[in-house]
Amino acid sequence: MKRDPRDVVATKRDGRKLLDEELRGFVLAYARGEIDDALAAAFVMAAFINGLDTDETVALTRAMVESGETLPLDGISRPKVDKHSTGGVADSVTLIFAPLAASLGLVVAKLSGRGLGHTGGTLDKLEAIPGMRTDLSPEQLERQVQEVGCAVAAQTKDLVPADGALYALRDETATVPSIPLIAASIMSKKLALGSDLILLDMKAGSGAQMKSLADANELASACIALAEGWGRRARAAVTDMSQPLGTAVGNALDVAEAVRALRGEEKGRLTDLVVEFAAAALASLEGADEDEARGRARGALGDGSALESFRRMVEAQGGDPRVVDDPEAVLPRAPVIAPLASSQEGILASVNAEEIGRASVMLGAGRLRKGDPVDPAVGIVFRPKIGDRVERGQPMGEVHARDESDAAEAADRVRAALTFGETEVEPPPLLYGWHGA
Ligand code: URA
Repeated sequence: MKRDPRDVVATKRDGRKLLDEELRGFVLAYARGEIDDALAAAFVMAAFINGLDTDETVALTRAMVESGETLPLDGISRPKVDKHSTGGVADSVTLIFAPLAASLGLVVAKLSGRGLGHTGGTLDKLEAIPGMRTDLSPEQLERQVQEVGCAVAAQTKDLVPADGALYALRDETATVPSIPLIAASIMSKKLALGSDLILLDMKAGSGAQMKSLADANELASACIALAEGWGRRARAAVTDMSQPLGTAVGNALDVAEAVRALRGEEKGRLTDLVVEFAAAALASLEGADEDEARGRARGALGDGSALESFRRMVEAQGGDPRVVDDPEAVLPRAPVIAPLASSQEGILASVNAEEIGRASVMLGAGRLRKGDPVDPAVGIVFRPKIGDRVERGQPMGEVHARDESDAAEAADRVRAALTFGETEVEPPPLLYGWHGA
């Protein structure tokens, strides 16, 4: 006899363990559209509050993978690396890493996500490029990876549709920062595609889903355990998100920053982290010495080869490839670009990066409701880093908005998110450490 899905929700609501079959039945029925959003929202909230244990997290992940096709990519002989972040602010690592890795002879077939809560989404960023498509069929994805070396695509009705549905629902129902829900969401997308190595970026800090190092470490362990349970090789870095990683918090703005990095014009924490991931991939997959691998990665960012891979990826996905030559001319531009001046002076001591992400969402760069369109042009550029001295009135960046009043409100929110002191502040480390083999 079929289980009433309300009983599944009631079991979790009351803090009891769900059986494999119960979770599987519920998730697959939701993905098929047989369970409405109200009941599914109650389910994710119950899971958020009462948690899911290891067995339940495995069952949820398996159900999400099973909700669509899998793509083993067995026909590809070059080493395959996948990469995923738990989400951050001004975090365009994937936009740079995927073409960089392809230019270094690796292959990246990656399913990404949209903006989630206050964090930006790779798909929303890519779709800021006119014409760019992310809804690739499994066949298109595989062909593109063969020909170009990299593809960044969405979960679709074919690939992990259950994650697509639950992800959007979690975004709308304040149920994002849950270790088992994030682990299942990320790993279902990684396990559905074949790869020789999964690299994970577990963000910790004010702009991350996990605010504390302890939670980021726990999430890293949960994801590595899922990968190992599937017999897959994974490494997870716990990295700093106590301030925006790069400078651009938006969609088109992030693409422009990524293009500058691919041209070798951006020096700083964003590029440094991309280089760390590329070096980890080369070391794990080819046995390269990490220092030598860092040098190769920096070389590919400087000599145009990573940029060329990005151009080919954009073109293959229908986007305007001129974005690599002149991003400002090709990408959408907001009608108001207002300077963001500091109202204080001193040494930047801390940044509430979530608040900067929320200010960008409020401008329209993210979604308030499931299925809302995002505005590709708006966002915030914020340049100072923790430990920098800032003068009163100094331009710290710009707000890109639809109108003056939105721009003023966002600028106030950013200024309120900063604290200044008079004593020197040590910048936080970029990378706290790695989990996994
Ligand atoms: N990235 C994902 O794919 N899922 C999450 O839940 C969080 C970040």
